[in-house]
Amino acid sequence: MAISTNLKHIQATLPQNVTLVAVSKTKPVSDLMEAYHAGQRIFGENKIQEMAEKWEQMPKDIQWHMIGHVQTNKVKFMAPFVHLIHAVDSLKLLQEINKQALKNNRTIDCLLQLHIADEETKFGLDQPELTALLQSKTFLEMRNIRIVGLMGMATFTENQDQIKKEFLALKSIFDGIVTQQQLPHFDTLSMGMSSDYPLAITCGSTMVRVGSSIFGGRN
Ligand SMILES: *Cc1c(COP(=O)(O)O)cnc(C)c1O
Repeated sequence: MAISTNLKHIQATLPQNVTLVAVSKTKPVSDLMEAYHAGQRIFGENKIQEMAEKWEQMPKDIQWHMIGHVQTNKVKFMAPFVHLIHAVDSLKLLQEINKQALKNNRTIDCLLQLHIADEETKFGLDQPELTALLQSKTFLEMRNIRIVGLMGMATFTENQDQIKKEFLALKSIFDGIVTQQQLPHFDTLSMGMSSDYPLAITCGSTMVRVGSSIFGGRN
């Protein structure tokens, strides 16, 4: 089906408080432009170089989200323009983002990625690491980053009960941080992709990252 039709269909099913990130990795600029003309302004990419190339070519009112794992030495290539970095999972990476944000005279919004899946391969912090990060002096002194929420990826499985359990675990950690009121801009819970975003929304997601249901499958 056409990209614009897919987009309209998905937008129509999303509650008002849920933001749609159109995940456009591997797709050509012409596909992204089709989504743009259908009104989409938030795009997610998982490779910094690919995102930077698309940013150069496309209209400047687009918000670019980095949703993939970030290598510290590449932060500088997105620091001038990135709108939100979803998968921050170490203090070291956060320090580099803070440094590059300062160089660009910006504040960069970030989500901390939590490890919720029952898989070794997925990145992310566990709860003790999250607590330690948020309490560290290094973190508290950073002025050019803002932690605006959390991100997580469920296990790659057909088992809906397991996925739901993992989303609810993330939502519970999210609510715990909201309650502490340490982070004034903390309001974003990024969870859910094409296969599981409706479930993620019932579990409290406020931001879904949807690729193949909009743009079709990737090679
Ligand atoms: C590719 C990707 C998505 C989108 O996946 P689809 O199944 O195509 O919707 C979401 N989040 C992350 C982190 C991704 O890398």
